[in-house]
Amino acid sequence: MTQEFHPTSWLDEIPGHLADIERAHLLRRRRVVVPAEGARLLVDGQPMLAFCSNDYLGLASHPALAEAARDATHTFGVGSGGSPLVSGHSAANDALEHDLATFVQLPRALYFYAGYATNTGIIPALVGADDALFSDALNHACLIDGARLSRATIHRYPHADLAALEAALAASPARRKLVVSDAVFSMDGDLIDIPALLGLCERHDALLLLDDAHGFGVLGPQGRGSLAQAGLTGATASRRVLYMATLGKAAGVAGAFVAGDAAIIEWLLQKTRTYIFATAAPPLLASALRKSLELIAAADDLREGLRQRIAQLREGLAALPPELGWHLLPSHTAVQALVIGSNEAALAVMESLCRQGLWVPAIRPPTVPVGTARLRIALSAAHTAADVDELLAALATHAADCVAARPQKTAGTSMAPAAATA
Ligand SMILES: *Cc1c(COP(=O)(O)O)cnc(C)c1O
Repeated sequence: MTQEFHPTSWLDEIPGHLADIERAHLLRRRRVVVPAEGARLLVDGQPMLAFCSNDYLGLASHPALAEAARDATHTFGVGSGGSPLVSGHSAANDALEHDLATFVQLPRALYFYAGYATNTGIIPALVGADDALFSDALNHACLIDGARLSRATIHRYPHADLAALEAALAASPARRKLVVSDAVFSMDGDLIDIPALLGLCERHDALLLLDDAHGFGVLGPQGRGSLAQAGLTGATASRRVLYMATLGKAAGVAGAFVAGDAAIIEWLLQKTRTYIFATAAPPLLASALRKSLELIAAADDLREGLRQRIAQLREGLAALPPELGWHLLPSHTAVQALVIGSNEAALAVMESLCRQGLWVPAIRPPTVPVGTARLRIALSAAHTAADVDELLAALATHAADCVAARPQKTAGTSMAPAAATA
C-alpha cells in the first residue's frame, strides 16, 4: 500500500547502496568468534591465532572474573533495572567507582556502560556553542563525534603537533577551552607527551580530556595508566586533567570511566545525557571489574611478558626485506602498526596471513590516511614467544613471495623505483 503512494521511496534504494559498497570492496562482514586456548580463537569454526584483540593482558577469559560475575548474580541478579540517577546505581557500581578512583589515584570516578557513550556524552556536558575544542587529527571516532555533538568550535590540529595546538589555543578568543586527545593512539600505538600537553593547557586555561583506552592496565606502575606513568596522579594530579579509560580492553570486561577533580565529576554526573538517560551497566560487570582491578595491580608478570613480546616482534619485523618499503611505526605499546602502503598490498598480506591461520587486521582509509594502509598487530600477554615467531615466519614467507614476484631489476638498481611499484 505504501508503494502505491511512494513509487520511488528512498527505502527501495538501500539494496542498491549496499551493492555499491560491495562493488567497492568496502562491505564489512562479521566473523563469528568463540575463544579457544591462549590467544587462539575459533573464527567461523576455523582455529586462528589472533593478533587483533584489545584484551592486552588476556584477562577477558580469566576464571576469577567469570566467578566474580557469577557470584554477583546471586545478590544483584542480571540487569541494573534503571538509569543511575533513578534506581540503577547498584552497590556494586558504587563500590567500583571508589575502587577506580583509588586505582588511578584521582579524587573521583564515574562509571559508564561504554567508552563510546562516555566521550560522546561528557564532551557536550563540558563545552557548548560559545566554546572552543582542540582535537588531535588521529583521535578516536567517539572523541570526534562528542566534539560535533557539543557544537563547540572545533580546531583540529595535525597529529601530536603541539606547536600547532599552542598557536590555535593562543588565537582562540573562547573563554572555555577543551583539549581532547588519545593518550595512546589506537591505530599507530604512539603515546602523546602528556606533561607537554598539560603544560599548554595550564598556560591557556584549558581543560584536558585524555582517552587512555589503550594505556589503562598496561602502562604505568601496576598498570595504573599513562597519566600515572607521566607522574600526574596522586599528590601531583592536576584538576585540569579528565582521565578517561575503557574497561573492555586490558581490563577484560566492558564499560569505561572518567576520573578527575571531584567538582568536575559531579558536574558530569548532573549534565551528561548519555549517563542520565541510559540504563546503568549491569552490577555483575561492575563486580567482575572490581576483581579485574585487583588482578591488574598484581599483573607485573603479565606486563613484563607483553613487553618481551613487543620487543620480539619489533626485532623480528626489522629483518623483513627493506625493498618492500614496509615500515614499522615507532611504538612501545601493545599496538604495533606495520605500514604497507596501498590498500591492495595490505589486503594481500592480511589474506596471506589468514591462509596461514593468523588473524591480523588490515586497516585502510578512511580509518587511516590514504597510502598508509597497514597491519595493526595487537599483542597480548596471552601470546607466547612461539605465537610471535609464528607470525614473523608467516610474514617472512609472504614478503619473500612479494620480492620474488617483483619485476627483475638489473643489479645496483636504486630502491626508489622499486618502492614506487610497491
Ligand atoms: C575502544 C575505544 C573507545 C570506545 O570504548 P568502548 O568501551 O568500546 O565503547 C574509545 N576510545 C578509544 C581510544 C578506543 O580505542
